[in-house]
Amino acid sequence: VTIRDGERVHLVDRKGRVYPVTLRMGKTYQHSGQTISHNALIGLEDGSAVTLSGGNKFVVLRPTLAEYIMKMPRGAQVIYPKDLATILLWADIYPGATVIEAGIGSGALTMTLLRGVGEAGRVVSYEIRDDFAERALENIALYLGKVSNHVLHRKDIASGIEENNVDRVVLDLPEPWRVVPEAVRALRTGGIFLSYLPTVPQVARLVEALQGSGAFGMIETFETLQRPWNIEGRSVRPALRMVAHTAFLTVARKLATPVLVDPDATIEGP
Ligand code: SAH
Repeated sequence: VTIRDGERVHLVDRKGRVYPVTLRMGKTYQHSGQTISHNALIGLEDGSAVTLSGGNKFVVLRPTLAEYIMKMPRGAQVIYPKDLATILLWADIYPGATVIEAGIGSGALTMTLLRGVGEAGRVVSYEIRDDFAERALENIALYLGKVSNHVLHRKDIASGIEENNVDRVVLDLPEPWRVVPEAVRALRTGGIFLSYLPTVPQVARLVEALQGSGAFGMIETFETLQRPWNIEGRSVRPALRMVAHTAFLTVARKLATPVLVDPDATIEGP
């Protein structure tokens, strides 16, 4: 499919720098005093080379979801692709699942979950800030178009999850322990709770709440590090800089039979 009017595309220069553009017939894109008309980009094949008025060359690309997330307008800080990818498998997001999410933030996690559950599934977001909610909905519409299986509740998720018998609860908010009683009530047995948290004291408090509820087993916490490499001729080595910390992921499974969790037990990772 060729690039269409109204689409958001990325222009990538020779050094790999990325410039997002939302295409509108009749408009002109400007970069460092050089221009190209949007009309010249509309109708091209994904990955075509284009030349600006001053001779600068760019590749025009339809962004992947990860690329789009890194360049979309942000209200709240987004979850990075390395963590989004990990969340999909550790929260075991599957086609047809009903997933509860809070807060919506900039919508990065929401879009990732929508892709995972597919058209047969459903994503329900809770968000307390209207400005973030609006930004997120715009971001989602710009990439996914009209979505019919996404619901947004503008409220504190700890004050009540309106859905029952849900498959997954995925949280990116500062006090997830406040949500544990509602997550226990709303999740089906065998359902999965996952929380993304930046600091150790938050993780300790959450795990205590999960254990204390008696409703969860298989409670585990981990982080992932992504180290980029530089591969240029004979310079084959790790990049000099990396994002050294984003957050810890804590995952738990809701059990049918309530259990007392042995605090000294360690769970073997898969
Ligand atoms: N995961 C999002 C970023 C979320 S930032 C993304 O990838 O884009 C955290 C969001 O949680 C903020 O928008 C904040 O307003 C919201 N929030 C914080 N506490 C909340 C609560 N108790 N209920 C609902 N939303 C909450």
